[in-house]
Amino acid sequence: MESNTPSTWLPGGSSTSSPTPPDRIPAGHYLAGMPDPFALPFDNRFARLHPTFYEVVDPTPLGQPYLIAFNPDAAALLDLPPDAAAHPDAAAYLSGGKRMPGAEPLAMIYAGHQFGVWVPQLGDGRAILLGQVTNSRGEHWDVQLKGSGMTRFSRMGDGRAVLRSTIREYLASEAMHGLGIPTTRALAIVGSDDPVYRETPETAATLIRLAPSHIRFGSFQIFAARGQPDRSRELADHVIERHEPDLVGRPDRHERWLERVVDRTAELMASWMAVGFAHGVMNTDNMSVLGLTLDYGPYGFMEAYEPGFICNHSDHEGRYAFDRQPAIGLWNLARFAESLLELVSFEAANAALNRYPTAFDQRYGALMRSKLGLTTTDADDTSLVGELLSLMAANRVDYTIWFRSLCAVSSDAEAAPAFLRSMAHDLERLDAWTSRYTARLRAEKRPDPERMAAMGRVNPKYVLRNYLAQGAIDAALGKDYSEIESLRRVLAAPFDEHPEQARYAEPAPPWARDLVVSCSS
Ligand code: AMP
Ligand code: MG
Repeated sequence: MESNTPSTWLPGGSSTSSPTPPDRIPAGHYLAGMPDPFALPFDNRFARLHPTFYEVVDPTPLGQPYLIAFNPDAAALLDLPPDAAAHPDAAAYLSGGKRMPGAEPLAMIYAGHQFGVWVPQLGDGRAILLGQVTNSRGEHWDVQLKGSGMTRFSRMGDGRAVLRSTIREYLASEAMHGLGIPTTRALAIVGSDDPVYRETPETAATLIRLAPSHIRFGSFQIFAARGQPDRSRELADHVIERHEPDLVGRPDRHERWLERVVDRTAELMASWMAVGFAHGVMNTDNMSVLGLTLDYGPYGFMEAYEPGFICNHSDHEGRYAFDRQPAIGLWNLARFAESLLELVSFEAANAALNRYPTAFDQRYGALMRSKLGLTTTDADDTSLVGELLSLMAANRVDYTIWFRSLCAVSSDAEAAPAFLRSMAHDLERLDAWTSRYTARLRAEKRPDPERMAAMGRVNPKYVLRNYLAQGAIDAALGKDYSEIESLRRVLAAPFDEHPEQARYAEPAPPWARDLVVSCSS
């Protein structure tokens, strides 16, 4: 300590030679001999399963990696200190060039229905599960690297991800978490100047994402298709042991677990619909058995409300249009339930699937009532919400701004207030709905300030509009990464006002209205 630390850095040291002597070691200043923050509490249970479930494979390092984004909120889930980003090897660790002590990298196998077409083998073609962490709170987190090079499952792909798509996934997953919607999380983006060829040359990047598990519907479909029910059972019991501990050892565990997957998927679809989120690629290999939003590609947050909104430019038939998501969720669950028919009887599978409409309706109804500030249930609510959505579509109002504006409607209003009128053109219809709505509010007798505050906690001011993501991407292409962090912070708390960042609440400017996103990533 004495020999290699300037005495002026120590408290009480001479201040004459150093005008602002720091009184401690600066944050993130890792010294030789300090413990390695990337030696995470790994507990790699998936790697202990039968080798059929994965390929043991190392990431292919990026050339000259540099850290682009690091999310301290996600780091905390791994007990990783926020200043780990300042570690000299942070970019190497976070892009897979240097193995984290305790990691056991592998690529997971799965199959799936892509746009309704059965594909007998998919798998992590460009993702690698570095390992699984059990944090100090006992939570399990998969640490998965995306864009980390080829695996046995890469098919025709190059195993890489472009910077653009990693930024989109990083921001969207944190935005969804901020909205309270179950999702994978994003820890870090590492970039490189290595070229990656898509429609045009781009550059490579990796994303580290976290989830309690990345197991998908397709992880089970593959073993059903191969006629290997023992594998399905092993995997189901692994999921149950890790994520449904109360079901362990029960003879009816598979039936009960399937019911939970049905309920959670229905609830996830309800959350997406209530917030105006379109996933874009609801293939069964992108459906989480934990009901998480998984695999962000050409997703879109609704702007001008259009029920049939298709966010994915490559989805020519609109299979994954916004308003088809609840039905597709059920279709996907039916494929999942079919894949469990060696574990669960046909009758039990059907009974589980039959829960879906009620589970969806209940959650969606509850979410929409809370968006309207209603605490009671009324037989007329479905029609009240239906008419609202229909007039919003007819007037093509901005979904997020409209609901946020409703928070300010006074319960004694007989007609629509000016701030709503300015967004609509069918004013007669708007007035009719408003008077019906405020009559319903008055019947609840809830004080306006209380209701308005509650509505402000469920109707976000900020969502990840496509042009905002594009702005962060454009800046990043010019090596300015500040917009990514600035957006992440706002989207992590989307119900707060953030007056200094209010520009993020604006609808898309004219230049951005024609932005399209496709499956290319
Ligand atoms: P996605 O549409 O991103 O969910 O990917 C569908 C399948 O294609 C998964 O098995 C991916 O691992 C694989 N895949 C997508 N892009 C690539 C790529 N660039 N290289 C290798 N595999 C890929
Ligand atoms: Mg996928």
